[in-house]
Amino acid sequence: MGIRSRTILIILAANFTIILIGILAGAAYVRRNIESYIETDMLVVADIADRFISSELDMLRHEAATAASRLAMAAPGEWAGILAESVGAKFIGFAVMNRNGAIAASAGAAASPNLLEHESVQAAFEGRMAFTSTIPSVDAVAFHLAVPIDGTVEYILILTLDGLYFSKLTSDYTIWKTGHIFIDDRDGYIIANNRPEWVQNRQNFLIKAQDDPQYEDVASVIKKVTAGDRGIGYYSMNGISRICAYRPISGSEEGWVLGIVAPLSESPVGDVDRGLLIIAFVCILLNIVAALIAAGFIKKPFEELAAMREAAEADSRAKSTFLAHMSHEIRTPLNTVVGLSELALGDGGQDEETVDRLEKIRASGLTILGIVNDILDISKIEAGKFELLNAAYDTPSLVNDVVTLNIVSIGERPVTFRLKLDETLPAILHGDNLRVKQIFNNLLSNAFKYTNSGEVEWSVSHESDQDGFWLISSIQDTGIGIKSEDLDKLFSDYNRVNMEANRQVEGTGLGLAITRRLVEKIGGSLTVASEYGRGTTFKVRLRQGFVAGTPIGREVADNLMGLRYMLSKRAKSETLIRPNLSYARVLVVDDIATNLEVVKGMMKPYSLKVDCVTSGAQAIDLIRAGEPCYSAVFMDHMMPNMDGLEATRIIRKEIGTMYANNIPIIALTANAIVGNKEMFLNNGFQDFISKPIDTIKLDSVLRRWVRDKKLEQDLPAKEVAAPPKKGSEETLLKGIAIKGLDMKGTLKRFSGDEGVIIEVLRSYATATGTILGNMKECLDGERLADYAIAVHGIKGSSYGICAREVASLAEALEKAARAGNLPAVRAGHETFEKTAEKLIKAIDGTLTRIKAADKPTAKAPNPELLRQLHEAVISFDMDRIDAIMADLEALRYESEPGRELMAWLREQIDNMTFEAISKLSTQELLAWAGPATDSQPEQVDNET
Ligand code: ADP
Repeated sequence: MGIRSRTILIILAANFTIILIGILAGAAYVRRNIESYIETDMLVVADIADRFISSELDMLRHEAATAASRLAMAAPGEWAGILAESVGAKFIGFAVMNRNGAIAASAGAAASPNLLEHESVQAAFEGRMAFTSTIPSVDAVAFHLAVPIDGTVEYILILTLDGLYFSKLTSDYTIWKTGHIFIDDRDGYIIANNRPEWVQNRQNFLIKAQDDPQYEDVASVIKKVTAGDRGIGYYSMNGISRICAYRPISGSEEGWVLGIVAPLSESPVGDVDRGLLIIAFVCILLNIVAALIAAGFIKKPFEELAAMREAAEADSRAKSTFLAHMSHEIRTPLNTVVGLSELALGDGGQDEETVDRLEKIRASGLTILGIVNDILDISKIEAGKFELLNAAYDTPSLVNDVVTLNIVSIGERPVTFRLKLDETLPAILHGDNLRVKQIFNNLLSNAFKYTNSGEVEWSVSHESDQDGFWLISSIQDTGIGIKSEDLDKLFSDYNRVNMEANRQVEGTGLGLAITRRLVEKIGGSLTVASEYGRGTTFKVRLRQGFVAGTPIGREVADNLMGLRYMLSKRAKSETLIRPNLSYARVLVVDDIATNLEVVKGMMKPYSLKVDCVTSGAQAIDLIRAGEPCYSAVFMDHMMPNMDGLEATRIIRKEIGTMYANNIPIIALTANAIVGNKEMFLNNGFQDFISKPIDTIKLDSVLRRWVRDKKLEQDLPAKEVAAPPKKGSEETLLKGIAIKGLDMKGTLKRFSGDEGVIIEVLRSYATATGTILGNMKECLDGERLADYAIAVHGIKGSSYGICAREVASLAEALEKAARAGNLPAVRAGHETFEKTAEKLIKAIDGTLTRIKAADKPTAKAPNPELLRQLHEAVISFDMDRIDAIMADLEALRYESEPGRELMAWLREQIDNMTFEAISKLSTQELLAWAGPATDSQPEQVDNET
């Protein structure tokens, strides 16, 4: 319903209520007054009726007395004649009686045999004149007036009146429409009424009410009437409310009473009610008319308001879109800034000042990235586009990730970090772990940011009540604290407080605003207590789903609490600690062989097994077979014949095994369109990585979807696979420049593993040559769609090896081909082809030169040298270690584990982490290296 209609309705409803209350109050007041007038008037009418009936009774008595005195003076034989003469037309019969019965009678005289016993007749024998009540005679009721015949009490005169005599007398008098007079005898029998049948039937409501409760109301009034009171009564009969004024008949010695009864609805009260109803009706009509007229007037402001709202919504949409675009646009170059500075730092060799500058560039880039992400979060929350993605998650991993991320920020400051974990915390919970992490990260990073020296303590526990399970946490610091007047402002957007003290601290004032909204969205509470200059404590309660009762236990809690030392040491020396995933096996699907090599190469430092296929169909077959069992599938989005979406759909919908339904599938895409993420998540994928693949993103995806902490615990001492920065072929590529290729970027991407790089470049040169041929054919046949797919492939693989020039030319051609712009494709193709061919030639040339200058190869590191190295490490004999390493590194090893072992050994030795090597037995070391020759498997001795 529109706001205008609502306003009109509200006005109408308010007016109706006012009218109703006015009418009810008016009606009550007028009614009360009118009723009191009516009562007075009715009593007056009753008095008048009494006069009238009493004089009639007097007249009847007088006539009867005259007749009786004439009879007394005549002989009984003359009585009949006298009576015929002297009794008026009012009486319908007469009789003279002695105590034995009638001795003379006219037609219509009372014939009731019981008449003699009647009280009034007996009274006449005692000298008093009296009326009987109605007495049933032959076919109707009748009244009798018994009169003593003068002087004697031996004879009496009985005069008979029609039973309806008084009814007829009173029937001419009506009040209002149907109001009338009635007469009852003293026992409550109706003896005059406008309903003759009640008189004929000798109706008596006092008696009727004994059997039928519906007459109780009238009977209660009649009781008062027959008691000889004068007054007003109200009763309801047949659903009609009536008013009754009653009084005794003053001229009746028999105790007769009269009443004036009338329906209330006929009284002026009814007219008042009707009048008020008419007024109400007219008011309501006028009200509606007024509301309709007013609606016309209020329409305009409402239309203006609606237009303003629409404009505001459009603005807000534009703002969200702008923010989304801006953040995307900013993030891309920022990634370059951060990535290139990391790359430059990783290369080493710069002077101190350059390193310092590069570190600052990197740190600032990361800060801007954080701000952009925050702005994006807040705009998403504001636009209502923010959804929680709930799933089961591993609590120790969550704690570990939060600590790992934040501990780095302590830097050189004297801040002690203490983690307190409740060992009964469930190991698995259900919720949106990324958002839970974000909450803890925000609070913990603030605690570190605003604590220059002292302590930061993070405690995590839990609680259950009737509302469910609560993850409870408190983040306590002994930092600068917050002034009490600032506490209320903390959670508003872009609000920073205590700026004098925080001038040097980076921030946007969005962190706590986001945190509060996240807590609200998840369900829970966030409170803060702080003492300025002493420290701050944030307390969070988060509603989480409880999955299984297994607690994390003392050991895991202790390990996590101990981990912080290890992390804080490592944080200073390494940027990326790659977990050892040697227990895992993944499948990579991409139609371009070079892309497969790129992914394989980038995954190498994780020591996991990587299987590659070039089509969705092959991937489906492997998943359907269920063998080998993969931890995850990395699926390219755009492939000819069957694209990644379709392949994933078939895996999820058509294979039907638990394995096919649940295996994590991660999309690889070179199309960085905003909103892609949702598209993949809605189509059976768990995550997505955009190409060129970012090392950090790949790392987080592998950690999230492939890493299995339980299996990791069973691994031997090399628990953290160090990046093999310097491979055994490290000198091969050093100083070599390939025109069109950013060699530094390539080295960085593949963690300096030159063996991998050589493989990738070889594959690129071969595959790209073939694709170029296909593209030419597509162009000649004007098949732009196929052309787009082919050039898309080259774009991806060129970015993958850091051949940016070819990649960006390919990107432009892909866009033109997709837009169906044949002239543009034709115009650009030649330059592209030439550039790509030049690059392939340069790569080929380099590979040939390398091959010529290659080191001598061996199958695997020499076992004897490895044994000696192990001994030297145990005895910390640095000179011997260097000498043996030089011998070992003089060869290039064909076996992959061999190269991997050499890389690992170099890393440990450079970092002086001898313990990692000595923890392994010689046997394990030799097993890792693999057999040194194909023909004779190496004898492994059993010593450790
Ligand atoms: P910012 O990006 O500025 O850190 P936040 O929203 O996270 O934004 O915090 C808002 C303000 O609250 C900060 O500017 C800081 O003044 C104050 N604040 C937050 N956490 C703490 C803390 N642990 N100790 C002292 N002050 C804090």
